[in-house]
Amino acid sequence: MEKYLEYWDELFSKPTTELKFSNNFELLIAVLLSAQCTDKRVNAVTENLFKKYKTPQDFSKLSQQELEKEIYSCGFYRKKSKSIINISREIIDKHDGKVPNTIEKLKSLNGIGQKTASVIFSIGFGGDAIAVDTHVLRVSKRLGFSNAENVKKCEEDLKKLIDKSLWSKTNSQMVLFGRYYCKARSPKCETCKLKEICKYKLEQN
Ligand code: SF4
Repeated sequence: MEKYLEYWDELFSKPTTELKFSNNFELLIAVLLSAQCTDKRVNAVTENLFKKYKTPQDFSKLSQQELEKEIYSCGFYRKKSKSIINISREIIDKHDGKVPNTIEKLKSLNGIGQKTASVIFSIGFGGDAIAVDTHVLRVSKRLGFSNAENVKKCEEDLKKLIDKSLWSKTNSQMVLFGRYYCKARSPKCETCKLKEICKYKLEQN
């Protein structure tokens, strides 16, 4: 793994999410909105949204239609609005108004799955986690880290390969690497320093 990690350290020395937020509740909302949507679009929406609504209490009082109008451009706005309002209520009723701080408790919130919980746990609470998104799945496959077609198995494979203390950092680097270098279409193989050891590239040659 050393060569991969060194290269990613070179490309992204301090990797983090590109989502903008100022507390863990805002992070949770931003992550929910980012499903099937770009971080850039989410940031444009939350810039205004978080000025108007800041707490789980604020969001819990919104009607679904009110929230739909605010987040419309993020796509899947009906499902996302419903989920944000329900989760806000659950956080108030079951977690004293605070975002829960373990993956299991996060997953107990309606509509939050393994990936979302892992992102919040890792970025919001500094925990060790791997959240497999489309970029991580693709990069893992191309580099031969995992042949898994599903995110759960890929997460398990990566956890065996990467030292636990590096899970979160490497995860963020893989997301950025997949987003900007090892893109789905036209990956930047010619300038990639991993091309000599990349399964995908070697199979092409
Ligand atoms: S050589 Fe190409 S496919 Fe392989 S990791 Fe680099 S960019 Fe991705």
